[in-house]
Amino acid sequence: MPDPILFVIDHDPEVLKCIAGALERRFGADYRILTDSSPISALSRLEQACERGEQVALVVADIWTSEMSGLEWLARAREACPKAARCVLISWGDADGFIQVRRALVAGDVETFLIRPCDDPEERLYPVVSEILGRWSRANRPRVAPVLRIVGERWSRRCHEIRDLLERAGIVYEFRAHDSDEGRRILREVGHDGRLPAVIFGPRVVCDPTNGEIAEVLGARLDPEEELYDLIIVGAGPAGLASAVHGAANGMKTLVVERSAVGGQAGTSSMIRNYLGFPRGITGAELAAYAREQAISLGAELIVTRGVVGLAADGRDKVLILAGGRDVRARSVIVATGVSYNKLEVEGVGALIGKGVFYGTGMSEAAAFVGREVFVVGAGNSGGQAAVNLARYASNVTIVVRGTELTMSDYLLRQIERTPTIHVRYNAQIVRAEGGSRLEALHIADAASRTTERVPAAALFVLIGAGAHTDWLAGLLQRDEHGYVVTGRHVTRGGGNQPDWVQDRAPYQFETSLPGVFAVGDVRHQAPRGVTAAVYEGTTAVWSAKEYLAEE
Ligand SMILES: Cc1cc2nc3c(=O)[nH]c(=O)nc-3n(C[C@H](O)[C@H](O)[C@H](O)COP(=O)(O)OP(=O)(O)OC[C@H]3O[C@@H](n4cnc5c(N)ncnc54)[C@H](O)[C@@H]3O)c2cc1C
Repeated sequence: MPDPILFVIDHDPEVLKCIAGALERRFGADYRILTDSSPISALSRLEQACERGEQVALVVADIWTSEMSGLEWLARAREACPKAARCVLISWGDADGFIQVRRALVAGDVETFLIRPCDDPEERLYPVVSEILGRWSRANRPRVAPVLRIVGERWSRRCHEIRDLLERAGIVYEFRAHDSDEGRRILREVGHDGRLPAVIFGPRVVCDPTNGEIAEVLGARLDPEEELYDLIIVGAGPAGLASAVHGAANGMKTLVVERSAVGGQAGTSSMIRNYLGFPRGITGAELAAYAREQAISLGAELIVTRGVVGLAADGRDKVLILAGGRDVRARSVIVATGVSYNKLEVEGVGALIGKGVFYGTGMSEAAAFVGREVFVVGAGNSGGQAAVNLARYASNVTIVVRGTELTMSDYLLRQIERTPTIHVRYNAQIVRAEGGSRLEALHIADAASRTTERVPAAALFVLIGAGAHTDWLAGLLQRDEHGYVVTGRHVTRGGGNQPDWVQDRAPYQFETSLPGVFAVGDVRHQAPRGVTAAVYEGTTAVWSAKEYLAEE
């Protein structure tokens, strides 16, 4: 396969030469840089390349090309090569052009813009193009040199859980079905004929491992290094990671305990577009990886694949019980356990989890459904993101919505409207999932026509809201009727059958009814949802924890 293409068009030959030359110098070893000053001839070259199956990574067009506008050209290029990233070139002083570019960015018609000509490519051209190509490459090129190889049943729940964990942890892996030629070859090569799935790391084979065993194989610690910490954070979503960064940066001996992989819900997002400082958006996996590295580099300790299952007060200290039985002590605690997906209680669904039914966006599974019919239940942002991501692979994506509207952000609504392979079924409800070793069909009831239809389905992605699963905190601190943890001014004295607030002072910001224990992010009663709010709360709670510790 020839190298992927970067295609640039500009009406000014000098500018074209300058940009193409700069791209050639930096990216020429891995990409073919093609140029044209005519949009029409460029389009036909592009169409031919994509028809031949060649990869086009990026198309760049001057906004005022001859024959058609650059934005129109980029729209046509998108039809010919839908996977290519799109960038428009604009000059300083072009007020009309900037208005058009802003509209195109908002509508998602282009990923970004660059200023022409290209006097200092180091300043903007290279950073922007590197970021775009890195993202394109991760999504579209086979991953080389996997860290782990997994051989198991393609449609088993455990194999899905392992793939999901590794995807969220950003670990490059190779999965092979046990009954495929390649799967059999790998098992022969490592001499394994025991239980599956087999997880292979270099010469080492672990059969049917727990998440903790996989983490250990990769060198992660599962036990805290110390007996007592200034701050223990439960949960490593955006809120917990923000607390970790600020706790460690402020000299607190900080431990984060995460039961799954770093990133929380945000880590499963295919693209976060509303977090400050990332104009081209950032994938949840990237954000999680940056935050983890930042927390660790500032001195926070991190344990993954091990949950906290209990909490008790011992004088001013708190004792946390880790899954598997070990205790660890903290002078202050931040609960940042977020929310997790509600279950779809419908006949047949439970038995097909991992076998075509998935909770969440299914980042690890999407590529398995190339050319297949897939369904998404959920009208909110996470459902919208899942549908847009799945549309890159599936022949058709149907969003099944109980009500009469989608309740997601505008940019997602626009993306859905513009994607011809995404359809929405309103007033509809899945009433049954059917299949044996994997999902085969769904039964969808239509409230308007009062009929039920059986439709063939390769996969169902369920994103129907989420709940705070805080039973391990019951009886320890005040929670609302849905399990969300009550903090700050919402904590009440004489809380009825709930634990009481008995201090003379008022609770600090984000402090729960148990002094020295704070709750932040989605798990908190009346918290505004989203990454920004979670990061703000995680950061602010550290200051409250410091105030609490200063009381001693
Ligand atoms: C698919 C999807 C897309 C989204 N896209 C966006 C977006 O584009 N923009 C935006 O602003 N928001 C988005 N959100 C919402 C955003 O991700 C959440 O609001 C945010 O992640 C909440 O952060 P948090 O840290 O409070 O909780 P979470 O992200 O839920 O993290 C909680 C963490 O705690 C861990 N945990 C739970 N219980 C325990 C325990 N007992 N012991 C140890 N660990 C535990 C969990 O495993 C999890 O990792 C999206 C959400 C989803 C699901």
